[in-house]
Amino acid sequence: MPKESKQLKRKRMAQVIARLKKEYPTARTSLDYKNAHQLLVSTILSAQCTDKRVNMVTPSLFKKYKTVAAFAYCNANELSEDIRSTGYHNQKAKSIQGASLMIQEEYAGEVPGTMEDLLELPGVGRKTANCVLGTVFNVPSMVIDTHMVRIMNLLVFTQKKDPVKIEFEIMVLVEKKEWVILTHLIIAHGRHVCIARRPQCTDCCLSDICPSSLV
Ligand code: SF4
Repeated sequence: MPKESKQLKRKRMAQVIARLKKEYPTARTSLDYKNAHQLLVSTILSAQCTDKRVNMVTPSLFKKYKTVAAFAYCNANELSEDIRSTGYHNQKAKSIQGASLMIQEEYAGEVPGTMEDLLELPGVGRKTANCVLGTVFNVPSMVIDTHMVRIMNLLVFTQKKDPVKIEFEIMVLVEKKEWVILTHLIIAHGRHVCIARRPQCTDCCLSDICPSSLV
């Protein structure tokens, strides 16, 4: 593919977003949560795990640990057992308890609403922070998960693999107001059509503007 100017890339990206919005009009996060702290916990649990599995674990988890304080001062081994089926449970329990403790003691039990403060929480990286900022605080943010890495590469909007580098590269191609929805649209597309290892290019609404199309 000949080198595409930034202007043309922005135009093609706008087409991608418009078409995917038509395909997935209800795209949103598939994690179940009732408040910012629950979303933070769910997002930590979703690392290396499907949202479906996380949603199977969280109803009883949030029933048992009703508040930020309940997570902050819990028995870490017990918490680890409670989330075992999501994988990496010891590390996740440590992150959830550590983050909850800091939220409880330094932010009076309220999840902070800035990237800087969220990144200070133990076990919270840019992906989790962006997810919470965009979904709960309506701060323009972009979550770069495995679907975003794969599909942004297939669409040749980036040729990088590092999520943080991709985040900054894609940001300049997308209007700020579309940052949050872009992630949800790409995740939906990655689950239904542009599936890892077997993309369904013949059924893809982007096949004529995707340089990797097999059609
Ligand atoms: S055309 Fe194929 S590779 Fe490109 S986005 Fe669609 S499914 Fe993925």
